[in-house]
Amino acid sequence: MAETVIQIENAVVSYREDVALRGVSLRVMSGEFVGVIGPNGSGKTTLLTIVNGLGKLVSGRVTVLGKPVANGGRHELRKQVGYVAQVDNIDPRMPMSVREVVMVGRYGVLGLFKRPGKRDWAIVDEALELVGMSHLANRPIGHLSGGEQQRVSIARCLSQEPKLFLLDEPTASLDWKAQTEILELVKRIHDERHLTTLFVTHDLDALPHTCDRVVLMKEGLIFAEGSPDKLISAESLSRLYDLPLSVVEERHPHIHKRKA
Ligand code: ADP
Repeated sequence: MAETVIQIENAVVSYREDVALRGVSLRVMSGEFVGVIGPNGSGKTTLLTIVNGLGKLVSGRVTVLGKPVANGGRHELRKQVGYVAQVDNIDPRMPMSVREVVMVGRYGVLGLFKRPGKRDWAIVDEALELVGMSHLANRPIGHLSGGEQQRVSIARCLSQEPKLFLLDEPTASLDWKAQTEILELVKRIHDERHLTTLFVTHDLDALPHTCDRVVLMKEGLIFAEGSPDKLISAESLSRLYDLPLSVVEERHPHIHKRKA
């Protein structure tokens, strides 16, 4: 039987005056690929932060890989949780190569003061191979396209050998081709490495092929969760985004056709 990898019970998170999560409960099983969608400000990023130990709960409980997240053990946990965010602006003069940046992911496992050995470099090179970036391993990190940069971020995360893969809109600001390629890469890595994946995205069109389950967030709450076939429908999206049904149908005609 699959084990529970993430268990969130009634999580409340607030930043000064904003309540970002208003009592969220979610259980994710080992090997699941879960997509998280919802309007800006609905709490998606905050949901990821309480899973990787960076968020602060006002109340509720979070257990990841069998350990409570809120009370200590955060460093140990973070080693097992890989995180890929949106494309960053990197200074083109940044004096680090692609291969060195991927090794940064390894330092989380090694500790800052231990020199990487042969095995660590082998793990880094294998990660670069897997994301298709071996040929650019020695290029300065600031000299890459957005899509290549995301491949490097994914490799950096893999060099950590995580069990849990968190992605926060990794395809935002990429062109359509790069978006598709990154999504396929994430899915392939999820399968090959037997990861558990939580994927925040705006790419509604790609979701049904990728996810086992979708979580729809709105105003700090889980608005609905279930199979993408059922929930990525014009009706539920129009309610999620507060848009007239006709607008959703127009923008996503094939989603409309697939509705139950
Ligand atoms: P999403 O990822 O869905 O866009 P977020 O989790 O980033 O949503 O944000 C949820 C709410 O919390 C928003 O109202 C946002 O303004 C607020 N928020 C997020 N991060 C911070 C922060 N560091 N400080 C203050 N408010 C924040």
